[in-house]
Order: sequence, then structure tokens, then C-alpha cells
Amino acid sequence: MIKYSFLFLLSLAAGLKMTAQDNRLTQKPTSSAAIYHQIEKLGFLGTALFVAAHPDDENTRLISWLANDRNAQTAYLSVTRGDGGQNLIGPQLREQLGLIRTQELLEARNIDGGEQFFTRANDFGYSKHPDETLEIWNKQEVLEDMVRIIRTFKPDVIINRFDHRSPGTTHGHHTSSAMLSMTAYEIAGLKSAYGQQLATLEPWQAARIFFNTSWWFYGSEDAFAKADKTNLIQLDAGTYFPWSGYSNGEVAAQSRSRHQSQGFGSSGSRGEQTEYLEFLDGSFPTNKDDVFSGINTTWTRVKGGAAVEKQWQKICASYDFKNPEASLEELITMRKLINNLKDAHWKKIKLAAIDYIILQVAGVYIELSASEPHATPGEVYNLNLELTNRSSKNIQFSIQGNNVLKPTETSHDIAGNKSIDTKMILQVPQGYESSTPYWLQQPGTTGMYTVNDKNYITLPESQPAFNTRVAVTIGTATIVKTVPLLFKRTDPVRGEVREPFYVVPALSLAITNPVYIFNNNPQEVQVTVTPFMDIANAALVLRHPKSWTIAPANQSLKNLKKGISQQVAFTVTAPKTASQGSIHAQATVGQLSYSQQIISLEYNHIPNQQYVIDATATVVKPALINDAKRVAYITGAGDEVALAIEAIGTTVDQFVPANLPMDLSVYNAVVIGIRAANVHDDLPVAQTRLANYVNNGGTLIMQYNTAGRFDKDALGPLDITLSRKRVTNENAVVTFLAPNHKILNAPNKITQDDFKNWVQERGLYFPDKWDASFEPILGMHDDDEEMTTGSLIVAPYGKGHVIYTGLSLFRELPAGVPGAYRLLANMLNISN
Ligand SMILES: [Zn+2]
Repeated sequence: MIKYSFLFLLSLAAGLKMTAQDNRLTQKPTSSAAIYHQIEKLGFLGTALFVAAHPDDENTRLISWLANDRNAQTAYLSVTRGDGGQNLIGPQLREQLGLIRTQELLEARNIDGGEQFFTRANDFGYSKHPDETLEIWNKQEVLEDMVRIIRTFKPDVIINRFDHRSPGTTHGHHTSSAMLSMTAYEIAGLKSAYGQQLATLEPWQAARIFFNTSWWFYGSEDAFAKADKTNLIQLDAGTYFPWSGYSNGEVAAQSRSRHQSQGFGSSGSRGEQTEYLEFLDGSFPTNKDDVFSGINTTWTRVKGGAAVEKQWQKICASYDFKNPEASLEELITMRKLINNLKDAHWKKIKLAAIDYIILQVAGVYIELSASEPHATPGEVYNLNLELTNRSSKNIQFSIQGNNVLKPTETSHDIAGNKSIDTKMILQVPQGYESSTPYWLQQPGTTGMYTVNDKNYITLPESQPAFNTRVAVTIGTATIVKTVPLLFKRTDPVRGEVREPFYVVPALSLAITNPVYIFNNNPQEVQVTVTPFMDIANAALVLRHPKSWTIAPANQSLKNLKKGISQQVAFTVTAPKTASQGSIHAQATVGQLSYSQQIISLEYNHIPNQQYVIDATATVVKPALINDAKRVAYITGAGDEVALAIEAIGTTVDQFVPANLPMDLSVYNAVVIGIRAANVHDDLPVAQTRLANYVNNGGTLIMQYNTAGRFDKDALGPLDITLSRKRVTNENAVVTFLAPNHKILNAPNKITQDDFKNWVQERGLYFPDKWDASFEPILGMHDDDEEMTTGSLIVAPYGKGHVIYTGLSLFRELPAGVPGAYRLLANMLNISN
């Protein structure tokens, strides 16, 4: 397929990078007070970069204070996108969770006024030590990205969230982020470091670097009170912003509360709030309550800036809150002065800022929208372009089209407080690739995304699929605004909804399950075919490993209607012996072939996200016996274990604690989803029922919960104390502590082979204390650590059994690890 991304290249070349604001769901209202705040920001020429490892590590209070009190260019560099975290709001994990968390960060920055950067590093999961982290990440590549970001953003001040001198005391990613930040700070100014970047970027030496410390890093408030603070600067981040009506602490809480997938909702606070910064290197601030003191942050830092400074002061002094438009002429004069500057860095930043202000002052509103959420190559779409002038003067709008996006009329002269709607035509060429995040286009490694075009690295997300440019002439100034194409609709409940617009293929194919587990019987595999346009004839096949058989070989599909999905079934038969492979769905329409699945992530707190994967599934035939007929599953925070139980031939009924049946005797086992005790406050209510059920011969299987944040009564009829013990090495040696226990022997004989090819980790939050009737079954440990014995504990209880396991079955089962299925079958069958 031909890969088109010329629109993206075009916009990069012209330096017209879309701001995060352009792509957000809602447009921020700009009151005259908010416009004045933007004008104030025009006069500050200082930059701060905050560095940590994950989405949610950032100190939103400090970021908001830097952006809104000090008026600095402020950004958060999160080394990763948080793929390895847990998801409190849905089933998505890994890349899809990283996609959600990327958007949560962008929403947070939209509130606190910061920008957002990432590197190519992948959050591969929990890591105990930076030595391990930096081995799994490609240290040189992550450093290269951080240096690139420093050379692009040119921070005067770098602030690390974590201490680079304390390996082993927190997540290895945390310490690594600080260690790499120190090195990047030291080398970004050297021509010898990453010299290939210097074709487009200049070396940059930040003036100073800090560690954003707090009492927490000292162990207690007491210890912190007694600590030597000569190297610490201290600032009040509790500023009240009359222009917005919020205290900085309130803005910070709103920003932090965007991290919904992590459950980081927080309440705002008002009044004085102290932040501490430990000076690490560079020039010590001349004033101990100002991070920028001693650095010239006025217009005089750039050549020719004195005239701009003077003009800026004039605008500030004469700004009329009742009539911002009165400042238009003076702003246009200031724009000309900025345009004449030689300093490319500040010129670009301040031109973008003043252009935004001028358009706001003139009440200009431009929006390009489609009435459907996506386009298919080869099809033609009518779009609406709204051009609104709410100033008192005439404004000229000139629309710049291209081969894909054409205006029907190219220019409009619009009188004061008038709005017009004009048409644009979108025709997407054949071969145009489907929209997917740039960092997920190529397969990556455990520790790194693959990104071929280095220009992308400074972008937090892919650019919009399409954008047009509108030149707006106000008096003597012509401002070119890049306008993204959005999907806009009016929702009866939510009101106006704006979403990103995506490119989709003519057909999306999805195999129902990611993994199929086979016994000796054939299984039906369903492929969901979703046409994004009307298609008269298509043919569908399932490509498969040679030793497997699939019938029919080819399914023909007729009269597919746009937007109407249908399921097509194939019968798949495994070979007689144990086997593992993948199957791929592939459709042919005329000369064109389709083999991708479009995944759409839809949450109300972030813009809809589209992600493209290959329509494929893993097929596994383990040597497995399972006699469990029926299982009740109490859903937890979201996992695919119920699907895995169905895959080995057991019927699963899913419940939340509130609707669990009184009589559970029909079930071979009751399985509790991951973190159920953390997310269901009413889980303790079900315990009497569960205890009676086990007492009468049932099996209760509990999966991991996080230590803290739960009611101890939620963990079954016997005492269990959770710890933070985990084994992160997925290949860690497993010792059979109770080799003759039924759970390791029936109906499947568990061997060391069953612990091969595990993914990401062995398990997490293992209990470290338990009732004497429990027997620990497995021992395991990470390098240089003591053996943990709590990963799988089993106790008889009445006529039945209680099992608690922190083993990461929720990761291993969806990944098709045969040993995890064999172990699962033994758990389900233990009371038979
Ligand atoms: Zn973190």
C-alpha cells in the first residue's frame, strides 16, 4: 500500500503544528479576563520542563503554577505513556491503555496550561530497579529523545519529579526518568551529543535543574522539618487567579482528576501551598523563592526585543475589559514587531500566541466539521466550514485547499457579527492509510516503540487526519490558522459533541476472541465484518497454520451495507497433537484486500481514539482436561479471564456482587475478577453466601487485589493479608513447594513447561500472611530477592476449597499461554 502522510509533512514544514487545544472535545471559552491573561503571558520569555516517568506522576500544582502564575512556557515530559498501568474504567490494557492515558494527559494539560511530551520508551510494567529499567528500555534512544525535546523546547529550568540518587526506593521507571533527565541536561548543550539532530536543531544548555522534593521523600514530615534546606528553594503555589476565579490548587485538582483510568480524582484546595525544589546543578537562583531568578525572562533576552517589550506594556496598560477589541490595532502592531525578530524560537512561540489572541479579540470562530465520524478511501464527503466574525469590522477569510480537501468558494468578506457556512469537499485517495497512533504503526519491543520518522517524537499524538488552512485578514494583519477536520454531532443527552475525524478502510474485520483454546472438538470462530461503505461482493478467508483445518475455505459476502456489521462463522479444527499458531482474517473486494480491525475507544472524558490492528487471533491446543461445566464470575476492575474460562469449554455466568444468586450450588467454581475488592464496596456482603457455598463443596477462586483500599472482609472466609510483593520477571524460576498437591496434579500434571513463555510478569500483590489452613503451592522471586511463597495458596474449607492467587492469569490467558490454561483448569476442578 502507498503510504500518504503528505498533509502532515506539509503542516510540519510550515511550522504550523496543531496545538493540543485544537483537537480537544470542547473549545475553551475566552472571556476578556482570560484574554488578558494570555496577553500577560506574551510578556514572559521563560521556559520550564517537568520530567517524570508516567502519566499521573506529574505535579499538576507546580505545572499550573509555572504556566499561570509565572506565565512560563511549561511542559511535562512523561518518559512513557503508561501502557503498563491498571485500568479502573474499562477492559483496555497495554497499548490501548497507553492511548487512553496519553489523552488524559492532554486533557490535563488543556486545563493547567502546559504542553506535553513523550519519548519512545514503553511502560513495560513494574520495575524494581533502574538497572533493570534501563536494560529493557533502549537507554540511548530514550536519552536521544529527551535531548531532542530539550533542544526543541529549550527549557531554562528543568524540574525532576523523582530523585536520581535513590535507585531501588521507588519504581525503576521513576528513578530512571530522573537519571536520564540529569544526563540529558548535561549533554543537550554539547555538539558531540546526538550530532545528527543538529541538522535541524541547536544545542541547548538549560540554566539549572531541580528535584521537586517534599516531606514524602524524607520519610516523614518530622524528618523533613529537621532537614538541611540550604539547597532548597521554596515557593507558594497557592496563588489565586482572579481572571479564572480559581486558586492554583483548584486548577491542579481539575487537571489531576483527568486521570480517570487511574482513579486519581482529587479535590481542590485554596490558600497558601508550599512547593520545595532542591537545586541540583547550574546557576543557583538569585532569589530563593523564584525558579527563574537570575535568568532574563523579559523581551530584552532576544535581539530587537526592547521595542516589543514597550509595545506589550502599552497594550497591558490600556486593555479595556469591557471592550477587548479596542486593543486590536496595538496587538497588530506588536505582531509586526514580533514578525521582524531574528530569534526563530521565540518568534514562532510568540507569533502563535499573539495570533491566537488577535483571533479571540476579534471574536473569530472557524470550524471544519463532517456529519460522520470517518472517511473511506475513494469516497466523496461534503464538509461544513463555519466562518464567524464577531468583531465590529469586516474580516476577510481566504480558504487554502489541496488535492484532498477542496473549498467550493475560496474567499469571503464577512461583516461584523455575521457567520456563514460554506462547503468543502473531501475526497480521500485510494491507498490512504487508516488512522492509527504514530507510535503504534510498527511493532515495537518490550521496552520501546518503533518510530521511523524522528519528527514525530516531539508530538504527543498523531496530527488530525485532515486539516485546511484559512487566512484571516484583519486590518493590516493576515493570520493563517490551521483548522482540523472534526466530526460534530448534537447528542440528545450530552449536547454538542466534537470528536476527531478518522480514515477507515472499506471493511473492518474482527475475529471475536484474541485467543482460541482447543480440545479435540472443532470450534466455531466468528469474524465480524463491518463495512464502512456499500459493497456488492466480497470474499472472506481465514488464513491458518498448515496442520489446522478450516471450513469453508472461502465465504462469499453479498450486498454489504455501510455501517451494518455481520458475523461470518468458520469451523476450525485443531490437529490431534498439541499445537499453537495464528489465524488471520482476510477479505477481498475486487482488486483490493483488507485484513485490519478498527478499534474505537470511546470515553466521555477524552476524544474518541482509533487504533488499527491486524485481524488475527492465536489458536492453541494445549494438552488439557477440564471437567468444570459451569462457573460464576464476579467481575472486577476489568479482565478477560471469563472469556478464557469459556474457551476451555466451561459455561460462565457473570455477576456483580449485588446480583450474585443466593444459590450457587450449580457452579463448579466462583471466580472473582481482578481487583474486585478494590472496586466493589459491596463485595463483603456476598461473603456469607460464598462461605456457605464453599462449605458445601464449592470452589472460591480469588484473583489479585492491590494492597490497601479495600475491606479485609472482601477476601473470603479465611484470613489473608496482602503485601506489595511481586515478581516482575516473567521468566523467574518457579519452585514447586507442594509437588504432590492436587492442584499441581489433577486433572492436568503441571510441570516446569507450564511456566514457559509467560508474558510481562509472574504476578503481583502476593499475600504474605494467611490462615494456617492455606498451603502455599509455588515459590518464586526476582533476581537478588528472597523467595515469595504467596503467589498461589490453597485451603480446604468444609467440603470445598478456597484459592487465592496473585499470578497474572489475567495477562497470561489472553496471551494464549498454554500452562496458564492448564493451571486454571486444575483450579476450577479442585473440588470435583
Ligand atoms: Zn509513576
